[in-house]
Amino acid sequence: MTELSDLPLRADLVGRKPYGAPQLHVPVPLNVNENSYRIPEQAAIDIVGRLAEAVLDVNRYPDREFDNLRAALVDYLGRGVTAEQVWAANGSNEILQQIFQAFGGPGRSAMGFAPTYSMYPLLAEGTGTSYISAERAERFELTPELVSSAIRLHKPNIVMLCSPNNPTGTPLSQNCILAAYEAASEYNGVVVVDEAYAEFAHDTSVTAINLLEGRPNLLVSRTMSKAFAFAGARLGYLIADEAVVDALRLVRLPYHLSAFMQAAAEGALAHAEALLANVDTIREQRDRIVTELRAMGLDAYDSDSNFVLFGGLDDNTAVWQGLLDRGVLIRNVGIPGTLRVTAGTPSETTAFLEALREVLAA
Ligand code: PMP
Repeated sequence: MTELSDLPLRADLVGRKPYGAPQLHVPVPLNVNENSYRIPEQAAIDIVGRLAEAVLDVNRYPDREFDNLRAALVDYLGRGVTAEQVWAANGSNEILQQIFQAFGGPGRSAMGFAPTYSMYPLLAEGTGTSYISAERAERFELTPELVSSAIRLHKPNIVMLCSPNNPTGTPLSQNCILAAYEAASEYNGVVVVDEAYAEFAHDTSVTAINLLEGRPNLLVSRTMSKAFAFAGARLGYLIADEAVVDALRLVRLPYHLSAFMQAAAEGALAHAEALLANVDTIREQRDRIVTELRAMGLDAYDSDSNFVLFGGLDDNTAVWQGLLDRGVLIRNVGIPGTLRVTAGTPSETTAFLEALREVLAA
């Protein structure tokens, strides 16, 4: 059998590990921050109708500029965002990859504040960008001073700010974004605010989209995978200056958004309100998890997201396994003594909390 080591693989990829959250079939899957609710039937029927129409023209390439989808995103976003400022791709992972391709690359660097989204270093590796991991303060918080001094020290071409942060749930203040932008402006770096979970924030009026005016090097990445309950379709999008969108056109593959994807995402956006209807319930479950874990004597971190990181576990691997044995899959994100759980439906949350009580009592 051919081994990876037999292949003429790029030297900088030798020994690397791929992204690999376990995909196990369990009764209560709470490990990858999905939305536990299926999309409403009315929306599903409309989307199927649009797909049926799209399939008749599938002998032709799709609209490379996905104008209708961009118009639908503009409608959804409001805030004066224009179609020229919007871009989309196969998940926000692809948006981020295109950013790394356009603004990173050999001889360039990107910086994130650990612990943060595990794909940032992998996207750096894949694009030959060097990756700098800066540290967070107490309880994984960031401050404007911490952010700007790390940026001034390393001068990364790309600054990654995850807001709220995955895997810790930590909210990010607008002052941190402004401080990062000011520091990166000194050498023409770009600042990316990854708002994958923005819709779950306690205050959703706070978004980096409000800071875009007059800041051409500020990039906001979002996704339909989380609040929109549309992870399987794979649609992520970017809001930034028109010139940034032009930069991403240089690296995107031709026709990267299939006709099916465009039709499905347009259908989903036409039912935005219905698809987002469970966000409030998910937020309530998130807050319930924090309250109940604290009552159990565990150290739950504040979260602006649809998941909660909690510490205070002597043996997090054993607790993770104990939960899995009871049909509840959560995530060990590699932070000692902690685990991360997604807020699901009320009954999934109950199942998680009951299983956890059993495991801790055992
Ligand atoms: N950013 C963050 C912080 C994430 O947690 C994720 C998904 N886990 C993504 C981006 C990518 O999501 P998608 O490609 O589904 O949009």
